[in-house]
Amino acid sequence: MLRKTGTLIALIHSELSEALEAHREGDVENFAEEMADVVIRVADLCGGYGIDLEAAIVAKMERNRQRPRLHGKRY
Ligand SMILES: [Mg+2]
Repeated sequence: MLRKTGTLIALIHSELSEALEAHREGDVENFAEEMADVVIRVADLCGGYGIDLEAAIVAKMERNRQRPRLHGKRY
């Protein structure tokens, strides 16, 4: 699993690039499909590590809620 992690992360990047192209073309349906691909690949990678992705998202959203807006960054 660890050996493939770099490849899986690269594939997540590739799905985001496909989403960007769909957006550039104004193809809303394909944009949604590519974003779904991103989430599927992220969930697959996390599953391989036994990560409870839902719990991680909830915990991170709570952490974000407690941080100041933009926390010192410009955007
Ligand atoms: Mg795709």
